[in-house]
Amino acid sequence: MSAGYVFEGARVIDPAAGVDEIRDVVVANGTIVDGAAPEDAERIDARGLVVAPGLVDLHTHLREPGDEHKETVETGTRAAAAGGYTAVAAMANTSPVTDHAAIVHEVRDLATAAGCCDVFPVGAITKGLDGESLAEMGEMVEAGVRVFSEDGRCVPSARLLRNALVYAKAFPVEVVLADHAEDASLVEDGQMHEGAYSYTLGLAGRPAEAEEIVVARDLAVARSTGGRLHLCHLSSGRAVDLVRRAKAEGVRVTAEVTPHHLVFTDADLVTYDTAKKMHPPLRTDADRDALREGVADGTIDVIATDHAPHAVEEKDMEFDRSPPGTIGLETALAAVLTHLVAPGHLTLPHALAAMSTVPAGILGAVEHGGPLTTGRPANLVVFDPTQEWTVEPPFVSKARNSAFTGQRLTGRVRYTMLRGELVVAEEKPTR
Ligand SMILES: [Zn+2]
Repeated sequence: MSAGYVFEGARVIDPAAGVDEIRDVVVANGTIVDGAAPEDAERIDARGLVVAPGLVDLHTHLREPGDEHKETVETGTRAAAAGGYTAVAAMANTSPVTDHAAIVHEVRDLATAAGCCDVFPVGAITKGLDGESLAEMGEMVEAGVRVFSEDGRCVPSARLLRNALVYAKAFPVEVVLADHAEDASLVEDGQMHEGAYSYTLGLAGRPAEAEEIVVARDLAVARSTGGRLHLCHLSSGRAVDLVRRAKAEGVRVTAEVTPHHLVFTDADLVTYDTAKKMHPPLRTDADRDALREGVADGTIDVIATDHAPHAVEEKDMEFDRSPPGTIGLETALAAVLTHLVAPGHLTLPHALAAMSTVPAGILGAVEHGGPLTTGRPANLVVFDPTQEWTVEPPFVSKARNSAFTGQRLTGRVRYTMLRGELVVAEEKPTR
C-alpha cells in the first residue's frame, strides 16, 4: 500500500461541494487530506485531467448468482472500475433472485473479495420476482438495501405498487421503489420501438405508450401514497413530460436515462445490430432530444448504464431471438462527454452530478459521490476529457454486446481510486 498520492494540477469537479477549480488532490491513508502530502507520496501529473468523485451506477446487471457465463461480480465490478465507477447497484434479477438478506450478503461478499468497486445490491419487490407477494424487504433494509426493483419486469399492478410504496414508507430510512415502466400487455413479442422503422424492418413493435401508461400509473400511485418512486431508464419524450409535471406538483420521484437512449435512435437498427436491441427500446429522434432536454433541465436526475451483459453466442442470433440489452459500464462516461457535454447539451459538473453525486444519494452510498473534503474516503475517478479512442472488443467485462462498438469517443478514464487504492492505473485494472 502506498503512503499516499498527489494528483497535481488537476481540474477538480466536486458537484456535492459546488467546486470546479484547478488544484492538487492529496490522498493519504485512504482518505482525502487538506494540505501537504506525505513525503513518500506518489506524485501523479494530472494537468489536463479531471478529478471527480468516483462514478456511481444506479442500474447494473452483474448476473451472479446464476448467470456466471454472462458476467460475474468480479468481472462486472472490474469493468465498472475501468469505466470510472467506484460503486454500482446490482439488480435483483439473478438466480436465485435477490429477495432476501442472504443473497444481499453473498453478492456484497463477492464484491469485497474482488476489491474493484463497491456493490449495493438492489432487492426484489416480490418473492422470486413473481409479481405477487412482497419479498423480505424488512430484512433486506436491515442488511443495507435502500432500493427495490423488479427490473427486467414491470411492477405488474397498481395495487402491488401501492402496497409496496406504503410498506416502504414505514422503514426508519428512506427506501426507494424503482420501476421498469413498460406495460407487459403492449410489448409481449415486441423487438424494437413501434413506428416507421419497425414496419420497414418487419419487426414487432414495443409502442411508446407502453412506457407512458405505466409512468402515469406509477406517478399517480406515488402522488396518492406519498411514497418514494424511481423510474428506470426512461425512453419516451412523453414520459419525460409526465415526470416534469409530477415533480412540479411535488411528487417524490426521481428518474434515470441510459447513455444509449441519449445517443441512438430506432434508425440505428437498420443493420439489425442485436447490441442495439434493448428494453425499453431505442426510440425516435424527438424522443432522444426530449431525453436530453430532460437531463438538462433536471427532470431526469440520473444517467445510469443498465449494463446488461450476455454471452457472445446468445447475442449472435437472429434479431428476434437475441436477448435484450447492451453493456455500458466502460463507455458511459465517454459517451456522455462526447454526445452531451461536448455539443453543449450538458455542463461537465452537471453530467458528473447525474453519474455520481445524485445516484449515490439515492442508493445511500454515503462514502461515494463526494464531497471531496478532508477525511472523506478517497473514492475518485481521474479522466482525460480530450483523449479519443475507438470502442472495440475485447472489453474488461466478460461480454462484448456493446451498442457503442465501432464508435469514436472522446474522454478516457486514466485512474480509478477506491478508498485510496488505485484499482485502475494508466487505464488498466490493477486487480
Ligand atoms: Zn429495465
